[in-house]
Amino acid sequence: MEKRSLGRTGLMVTPISFGALPVQRCTFGEAGAVLQAALDAGINFIDTARAYTDSEEKIGRYAASRRKEFYLATKSLARTREAMLMDIDTSLQMMRTDYIDLYQIHNIKVEQDLNAVMAPSGALAALKEAKAAGKIRHIGITGHNFGLLVQALKSNQFDTVQAPFNCVEQGALTELFPLARSMDIGCIVMKPLGGGLIESADLALRFILENDYLVAIPGMDRVEQIAANLSVTRDFQPLSAAEKAKLKAEAEALGPNFCRRCGYCLPCPQGIDIPTMFIFHLQYVKYGLKTAIPDRYAGLKAKASACVECGECETRCPYNLPIRQRMKQVAADLG
Ligand code: SF4
Ligand code: SF4
Repeated sequence: MEKRSLGRTGLMVTPISFGALPVQRCTFGEAGAVLQAALDAGINFIDTARAYTDSEEKIGRYAASRRKEFYLATKSLARTREAMLMDIDTSLQMMRTDYIDLYQIHNIKVEQDLNAVMAPSGALAALKEAKAAGKIRHIGITGHNFGLLVQALKSNQFDTVQAPFNCVEQGALTELFPLARSMDIGCIVMKPLGGGLIESADLALRFILENDYLVAIPGMDRVEQIAANLSVTRDFQPLSAAEKAKLKAEAEALGPNFCRRCGYCLPCPQGIDIPTMFIFHLQYVKYGLKTAIPDRYAGLKAKASACVECGECETRCPYNLPIRQRMKQVAADLG
């Protein structure tokens, strides 16, 4: 399979690699099957996070015996040196490995985050120590705020950057990815399928891979997604005018403010599964599932009407979605 260089790390990785966020939604058995299938198919780069609940643990259980076959990336929301050192050791233990190829600072959202990690007692200092000790090999940064990521890259402290890029949200191509490329910083594309909501997956992935320095990490939690996603790398063809128009129409129908199912807004103190609320609502309103969705919604323990508008979720949503307002709409339509 084709490999692409992940910038200055020199890691040669498959352009369609494995995003392990959705693995947290699988049973352990399902996670094992999908991870094994990904490695069997030749995918050689797995990206996860401390914050993806048991994703690291599942990788440790089902992929550690094949550690030499793939590069491993994870990330931590820690902002201080002390917390980051602890998270690195936890990641090593969970994933049953003695080194991690890429450790990233996770989700730099506001200026204070960046200032905290870059401070002398910040998370970056811990990553450098871990690198010197051989626990990690490269240091990266991730986020959704392109301006802050640009600022971070200009410090020349990072080997990779991970940001969203897809047919709906193309802002990373304005400055961030070109800057990274010019500095030989590897570019990892999160949310290539808009959290699974872009239906023309093959077109959406080809749209990204037309940029020959980008590596996409679509989230995968079902074995059949692997062959489907990898098919676009065989006999790669740029999008035709008709395909571009089709993808553009889909992007416009979806709009920029949809929930990507990343789950960063959780936990809700009322126990509301926020992304599931929005998925159900989308399916109810947009796809007309007027019987199936109310039936499934009725089975949820905490419904949108349980929202007390505390706003905690909104401080964590990287897309700044007006969750409280939308929760009211879900409650009005579904109860
Ligand atoms: S605003 Fe509502 S949905 Fe958000 S965390 Fe508070 S109770 Fe949960
Ligand atoms: S509401 Fe925001 S944080 Fe929560 S899953 Fe959706 S996009 Fe992610």
